[in-house]
Amino acid sequence: MKHGLRMLGRIAVAMMVVAALSLPAIAKPKVMILATGGTIAGAQTSQAEYGYKAGSFRVEDLIKAVPQMQELAEISGEQIVSIGSQDMNDEVWLKLGKRVNELLQSPNTDAIIITHGTDTMEETAFFLDLVVKSDKPVVLVGSMRPATAISADGPMNLYNAVAVAADPQAKGRGVLVALNDSVHAARNVTKVNTSNVQAFQSLNRGPAAIVNTGKIVWLEVPGGRRGARSEFSISNLNALPRVDILYAHANMSEDLIDAAVANGAKGLVIAGVGDGNATQKAIDKLAAVAKKGVVVVRSTRLPSGLTYRNNEVNDDELGFVAALEFNPAKARVLLQQALLVTHDPREIQRMFAEY
Ligand code: ASP
Repeated sequence: MKHGLRMLGRIAVAMMVVAALSLPAIAKPKVMILATGGTIAGAQTSQAEYGYKAGSFRVEDLIKAVPQMQELAEISGEQIVSIGSQDMNDEVWLKLGKRVNELLQSPNTDAIIITHGTDTMEETAFFLDLVVKSDKPVVLVGSMRPATAISADGPMNLYNAVAVAADPQAKGRGVLVALNDSVHAARNVTKVNTSNVQAFQSLNRGPAAIVNTGKIVWLEVPGGRRGARSEFSISNLNALPRVDILYAHANMSEDLIDAAVANGAKGLVIAGVGDGNATQKAIDKLAAVAKKGVVVVRSTRLPSGLTYRNNEVNDDELGFVAALEFNPAKARVLLQQALLVTHDPREIQRMFAEY
């Protein structure tokens, strides 16, 4: 009797083993790394020197440097450009945005990582947040120390970015930025330090997630409109409208406003003092150009806080748009997209409230 039961037990175990072996292995997500350069691909002439050249290594080198990420995902790579992100421009944005949309339409890509310099990372991330027509994860990653540095931060940042991109919970959170164990929503994040590895923060809202050696704790889902719900599209575009940013200060003159408009700016963002203000001379000139159809958005040169409508400046009367949560760099990105749809400041104000 006992022997019979033991036999039955063995048969059951054997059947379970056979069943487990015949189960299809869970496929790893397919993650494409699009490389654009930046310090994460930077090389120094000497490890004892601060100086380095951004964008010296190619995507294959970055992938080879972190073999551990192959355990998290099936990785492939493509070089888009090799630049320091201070040279990022509309042409590269359009190329990158179109490629991201094309890749994400295919079942062969589950998520995208973009390696990017940190200087304009928040702008590229927000541009993509507005124009990518998919809910699949898109994660921008960079580093503050070049790839050749003693204690380079790029490899761990890249590993964490892959973990984030491969996580099913990253879907639908918009474009993300992952550096130094924190993950930020594109619309919220800003660079806050010139050289420290802790260089990114979401000042008005806080991070989207914390990630430590690939282990993620998700926090808030970002607000704003994006993905399939975005009204912006770049599929037929070869250029974006010119929008300039003017930095307000004590004794600001109106000359640079004239110069920007004379050089073809269709929109102006003012990095205003305090709650988005400027000298009376500058405000008068901005109101004059707004009457002629140039769209004027008031943002603030301060790192945090909102620029509210009709605070010290009467936006209703002067025809301005208030940037609300967006800093000048982000306001410029959104205004470029908005101007492709309308020049009506009230419609553009709606967009600033929705995205
Ligand atoms: N200048 C570099 C860049 O933005 C800085 C960096 O990547 O950290 O490309």
